[in-house]
Amino acid sequence: MRVEAEQRAEVEDEAREQAESKAREEATLREKAEQRADSETQARVEAEARLNEALESMERTGTCECCGRKDIPENDLAKIDSGQRLCPDCIKMLRG
Ligand SMILES: [Zn+2]
Repeated sequence: MRVEAEQRAEVEDEAREQAESKAREEATLREKAEQRADSETQARVEAEARLNEALESMERTGTCECCGRKDIPENDLAKIDSGQRLCPDCIKMLRG
């Protein structure tokens, strides 16, 4: 009977050890998953920032220093050699 009890205790010890190492493993996995989630969040935040930047620069308008039009998207304004920024129409005229 004593032997049986000892064996049972041994089995229980082993089971507890296994459970503990499994718990540790799961904790590690969870940690890794959290890190991955963090870097995914980070990537999403960066992507959003880049998108916002692109949208902002698309919405930004400037003034053509040739014809004076004020609603020219910055992306359409072209800098000429003298440093002036011209609208596409004026660029076209300039280059005739
Ligand atoms: Zn112009």
